[in-house]
Amino acid sequence: MYASRMSNLPPYLFARIDAMKAEQRKKGVDIIDLGVGDPDLATPPHIVEALCTAAKDPKNHHYPDYAGMPAYRSAVAGWYRTRFGVTLDADKEVVALMGSKDGIAHIPEAFVNPGDYVLSPSPGYPVYRTGTLFAEGRIHDLPLLRKNNFLPVLSDIPKDVAKAARILYINYPNNPTGAIAPAEFYREVVDYAAENDVIVVSDNAYSEISFDGYRAPSFLETKGAMDVGIEMHSLSKTYNMTGWRIGMAVGNADVIAGLGRVKTNVDSGVFDAVQHAAITALSGPQDCVQDACRIYQERRDVLVNGLRGLGFDVLVPKATFYVWLPVEDCMTFASRLLTEAGIVATPGVGFGASGEGYVRFAITRPVARIQDAIERIRGMNL
Ligand SMILES: *Cc1c(COP(=O)(O)O)cnc(C)c1O
Repeated sequence: MYASRMSNLPPYLFARIDAMKAEQRKKGVDIIDLGVGDPDLATPPHIVEALCTAAKDPKNHHYPDYAGMPAYRSAVAGWYRTRFGVTLDADKEVVALMGSKDGIAHIPEAFVNPGDYVLSPSPGYPVYRTGTLFAEGRIHDLPLLRKNNFLPVLSDIPKDVAKAARILYINYPNNPTGAIAPAEFYREVVDYAAENDVIVVSDNAYSEISFDGYRAPSFLETKGAMDVGIEMHSLSKTYNMTGWRIGMAVGNADVIAGLGRVKTNVDSGVFDAVQHAAITALSGPQDCVQDACRIYQERRDVLVNGLRGLGFDVLVPKATFYVWLPVEDCMTFASRLLTEAGIVATPGVGFGASGEGYVRFAITRPVARIQDAIERIRGMNL
């Protein structure tokens, strides 16, 4: 019944956890769900207000501009300049996305021929892989290992793979490991891309969620980056707007044009009222972002200190709302957490083969629930 490309999609490894979660719920277990990468915090009220106002204006009830309203693209360019010191031409170097997942899923359609390679982190955000497979490209895994600070080793990529590679995905601050990338890494990526003629797609969804004074850079701050790639960004994690579906791709004009051309043929843009609200988010006061970071940082401290107190060898993430916990066997550990403690965590192997040996906790629940989780794990007799 299904097309053959459907059988190329990886098995849905979270399905087993989902089924077990449903079973525990049915039994009346009070589940602490640290599985979802979706903020539990509300969108700041001034952004919601902007949506309500814009939604009432009939001007906004029509098909939007494919590439995004000029005012939205200018707001994105303005935000990149203020936040990163990166200058963008709002006409040619910015395109609106229905969340960054939209851009990540569709970019291989524009640049990958059947059989071409896409270089993709493992563990990594699953859409790098599925977007590639829909375009009938081949994935070459870039293992992210703790001994390398969860950065890929570009010199390990075989020459024949590099030659047939079209896209290199990077994602720092990183989901699921919580790792960050130093400026030297971005330098190395730009040089590698120029040398091997691959397009860099930097997924920077978590640049604003950081702790202890750390500020994540944009890939585009690196000299030469605009020549070799683009960055996908999103309002989802920064402003607790996952359900709104608004993001942006920015960078190299030719790459942006290719992505825009695919999108023109498959969607009709983002609701103008949502774009108006996004302009308010990007151009308005940013203290709501700091408030969210303070909340996540407290949760991170409670979880990491709690886990360390129980003897786990866990790193302290400087960014993202994830804690990447080394365990023996990730599926076994995740199912024990669920059946013995009513805690949902995501088995690392769901993010790729090199995610084995870890589970991911999302700190998207209040401190009190995280404290409960620690007490429940203490009682597990691990
Ligand atoms: C959440 C997430 C995204 C996509 O978010 P959107 O809501 O589609 O903007 C992209 N990349 C990573 C790594 C994410 O965790």
